[in-house]
Amino acid sequence: MSTAAAANIRENLARLRDRIAEACLRANRAPGSVTLVAVSKFHPAEAVEAALAAGQAVFGENRVQEAASKFPDLRPAHPALRLRVIGALQTNKARDAVRLADAVETLDRPRLAAALADAMRKEGRRPELLVQVNTGDEPQKAGVPRAEADAFLRLCRDEHGLAVGGLMCIPPADDDPRPHFGALAELAARHALPTLSMGMSGDFEAAIACGATHVRLGTAIFGARPPPPGPG
Ligand SMILES: *Cc1c(COP(=O)(O)O)cnc(C)c1O
Repeated sequence: MSTAAAANIRENLARLRDRIAEACLRANRAPGSVTLVAVSKFHPAEAVEAALAAGQAVFGENRVQEAASKFPDLRPAHPALRLRVIGALQTNKARDAVRLADAVETLDRPRLAAALADAMRKEGRRPELLVQVNTGDEPQKAGVPRAEADAFLRLCRDEHGLAVGGLMCIPPADDDPRPHFGALAELAARHALPTLSMGMSGDFEAAIACGATHVRLGTAIFGARPPPPGPG
């Protein structure tokens, strides 16, 4: 990674922290109430190191295998580092996710709930769990259908003993995201869930106005994504 590229990441982060603080002020929220999650998927470990050097501690990755290739080596030198899995999670990767991650944001089906509960018992680790809700009920998208979210949250708690900490959504690309953010916030309030992961590079200020506690920013920090690094 060139010095110029690292400087770019540092400047982007500084600008985004300002924009997050301003969005919090406009929403009458404490500036520290929103966590910036730097989404480093497809970007090399050097980009993560540049962000770490600029004071960024919380990262999001879509693929467990890619996260496994980048993050464990960085942890010893960066004890504050936190990793959140934000991509669709296959059941057979649940154990790796529990071993690697501090949060899994994409719990969205009963078999995955069972696999995560089992992995947490075996690993003796309890990453924070968020339920992903398919607020637009898009057939191709991951997430619990909106109408099934209440029942799924109960199932996670009652049948699997999972302490779900919050909700996550990715609104449909062509919709106004605000009704989706509002619906997710309403569902979280109904279940007394503190964490709301919503908002990406293009819409994070609207998400903060709707109560986001975690915004997931990739492009706005690291620039355009390179092609994915092989299967996994
Ligand atoms: C890639 C990704 C992001 C970041 O998207 P940007 O538009 O680059 O900010 C956020 N959330 C999820 C779930 C993603 O897959």
